[in-house]
Amino acid sequence: MSQFFSRYATGFSRSLFFWLLWLPALANAQASYFYPGGGKFNPAIPTPEQFLGYPLGSYHTRYDQTVAYYKELDRLSDRATFEVIGQTYERRPIVVLTITSPANQARIEDIRKAHLQRGSTNTGDGEPLVIQIGANVHGNEPSGGESTLLSAYYLVASEGEETLNWLNQMVVNINPVLNPDGRDRFNNWANMHKGTPYVADPLDREHTEVWPGGRMNHYWFDPNRDWFLTVHPEGEAWVKFFHKWRPYVVVDHHEMGTNSTFYFDPGKPTSNNPIVPEGLYNNIYPRFGRYFAESMNKIGSMYFTKEVFDKLYPGYGSSYANFFGGAGFLFEQASSRGHLQETTTIPLTLAFTIRNQFQAALATVRASLAEKAELIKLRRDFYRITGEQAKKSPIKAYVFGEANDANRTNALVNLCLTHEVEVYELDNNISQGGKKFDKGKAYLVPIEQPNYLMVRSFFEKAIDYSDSLFYDASAWSVIHSFNLPYTELRAPFAKGTRVAVPKVAAPAQVEQSTYAYVIDWADYSAAKAVYHLQNHGAIVQTAFKPFSLSLGGNARSYSYGTIVIPVQQQKIAPDSLFRLVKETSQAAGIPVQAVGSSLALSGIDLGSNAVRTLKKPEVLMLVGQGVSAYEAGEVWHLLDTRVGMPITKIEWTNLGRANLNRYTTLVMVSGTYSLDKPIVDRIKAWVNAGGTLITFKTATEWAIKQGLTKEKLMAPDTAKNKKPNRVDYDNAANVEGVKAVNGAIFEMDLDITHPLGFGFSDRKVSMFRNNLTLLKPSESPYNTVGQHPANPLIGGYISKDNLKRVANSAALIVSGEGQGRMVLFAFNPNFRGIWYGTNKLFFNAILFGNNITVPSFENNEQEEKE
Ligand SMILES: [Zn+2]
Repeated sequence: MSQFFSRYATGFSRSLFFWLLWLPALANAQASYFYPGGGKFNPAIPTPEQFLGYPLGSYHTRYDQTVAYYKELDRLSDRATFEVIGQTYERRPIVVLTITSPANQARIEDIRKAHLQRGSTNTGDGEPLVIQIGANVHGNEPSGGESTLLSAYYLVASEGEETLNWLNQMVVNINPVLNPDGRDRFNNWANMHKGTPYVADPLDREHTEVWPGGRMNHYWFDPNRDWFLTVHPEGEAWVKFFHKWRPYVVVDHHEMGTNSTFYFDPGKPTSNNPIVPEGLYNNIYPRFGRYFAESMNKIGSMYFTKEVFDKLYPGYGSSYANFFGGAGFLFEQASSRGHLQETTTIPLTLAFTIRNQFQAALATVRASLAEKAELIKLRRDFYRITGEQAKKSPIKAYVFGEANDANRTNALVNLCLTHEVEVYELDNNISQGGKKFDKGKAYLVPIEQPNYLMVRSFFEKAIDYSDSLFYDASAWSVIHSFNLPYTELRAPFAKGTRVAVPKVAAPAQVEQSTYAYVIDWADYSAAKAVYHLQNHGAIVQTAFKPFSLSLGGNARSYSYGTIVIPVQQQKIAPDSLFRLVKETSQAAGIPVQAVGSSLALSGIDLGSNAVRTLKKPEVLMLVGQGVSAYEAGEVWHLLDTRVGMPITKIEWTNLGRANLNRYTTLVMVSGTYSLDKPIVDRIKAWVNAGGTLITFKTATEWAIKQGLTKEKLMAPDTAKNKKPNRVDYDNAANVEGVKAVNGAIFEMDLDITHPLGFGFSDRKVSMFRNNLTLLKPSESPYNTVGQHPANPLIGGYISKDNLKRVANSAALIVSGEGQGRMVLFAFNPNFRGIWYGTNKLFFNAILFGNNITVPSFENNEQEEKE
């Protein structure tokens, strides 16, 4: 018996030992709890318990301790190499431990290169198989992260024959905590509320985190969507590391409800992604499932497969590999959410959850090597099948780009590069279907390339699904979230140079002006430029009407929203302004033109009354229990990282203490706000005195129900409800699931002459909805800024009844209330940090909102009959 086992038995604290006696699941808690079957271990390698000073499961391991243990394994063993692959917002390192035999470690770079070669060719079959184990993308699902300490120890210290064979024939990369910021948020919560003895009552504070909880990353995003979107440093680091190794197998350890058991793949068969070759679903998942089942049977743990969890979205940790000829696996363990929690059977211990995850991880290693030939076949078939599909595709390439928005265009180019999708410069200007794409300002993505499935996932708007119950959004075509002009090439084409490095906008040097500077509002980073200028004391204006100017002898036209910075009408000297303008141009990566006259070639002159001075925004957002942390986090992230604007986040229960007069703008994202009437009255008075209230989704419904605005919701049942049919009980989930709107892409018609629509060149705008806030178009002809057309669906799943409800409803309304106004969004314009297109509407609401006056109109019409 190894030192680990004997230490484990004596290492239990007295209280822990006491309650263990009362738990049947752990009644035999002994040294061999985690490793039934035992084995021989290298005594020079400390067990997690020896290193940490407590038995796993009795404390939530702080992230710095996890990192320290991994470093120690690297220091003590020639089987392990520690690597930092990134850093979180809160400055925690994102780390990986690479484990293989010492002989393999000595030639690890050669192995990596040979392995990548093997991907689609017949070379290198003798090289070790590469797999990856990841955990804790959700910070408050600790059993996965804790289990990787055991997995790493086992692989580094075990002297067993099976383990030595694994190490000779495999490279195992372990990413112990994918979301370190969230994990530590949860660790602190669970540890600070831990009682001695443990309190298993589910209502105890230990088991009920306060808002926003540890699931998310620093900006309250769900990081398990970021494998595809790579909005955050975490996602960027994982994906970069993934492509460095392209593992055959990636497992992702998660947790689910306390009363559940354990889940492993195969997943829900009706929600497999239809573009991924089916060998993965029909062959690999069932094969691996047998090993997982065996590992759970052996320790008596209950489990389920083929239910609940889907494989559709390309950006889960358990699905990303599927799009690159690998196999992603999901483990979901019922959560003790704390150290010990009651269930409908016996209390669940953290140690029990760790053991299941650890056993599943070992089963993964075992299965991967046993099924090596099948994994190699899977990848070769993958490239052959997708290659044939690409060849047959009627679409040969996609071309995209917005000439006036280098930053938004670059962001999509760079996202393609992150996923190793090939992108090319244009060989020539292209005109097609009324759209023009200029060389240098637009890019081409050919269909025939190794990462054909990513190209489809990026650009295809409609994939046919065989299911209507979605765990998550059913549409993610990023070309629509960027709202970039694009076209499909169906004839042979010539391509220019391949884009090799990420695009960074490099604006031309700004020339000094004694008169004025102008900035095109179409550019995504114009919002950053405006706030930077305002924040450094410049007076900034915006043109409410278009104009054209002569610049260096050439005519150049400027659309609605163009930013004007006069030189003399400033509190700062012309030289200081020039320095500031130059600095702004560099910081935002945006061109600034110097002009010498107000006189326009056409349209308004720069001194027109239609050029209005912008008020610097002071933004307040309500957060706290009941508020959508995702939506609030998206606002926070957007303003922080893409505008450089501070935003005050106030608990809505504290709103009574705020002096609203110091803010220009109040943001209320979806949520349940139980604000008392006097507070609601204060918000109303503040809006009437000139404030701008911006609401999303259910906050929009709340504002309407509170009577803050005269705007209305659609009558509850526009689409006629059929008579209630009898439905078999067993079918309830299917019938009800169809009614949910989990996320699809819609079209809206946007008034691009309205300040909220400034910066858009096309009235047809793609937007995302995962909700049914149905705004009635305004009685005022000027207030409905965005409205869905009669056939609004672009891509994704929505039931026919719901589609009827969305058709012709308003998506965005501005309503004047006294001196102020309300901006009512029926949707979330900032979804997951990737909706670059509709972000502009939000920028407009923040930066121009205070300048919107709502025209009065005479309503001579009869009250509309319903
Ligand atoms: Zn999870």
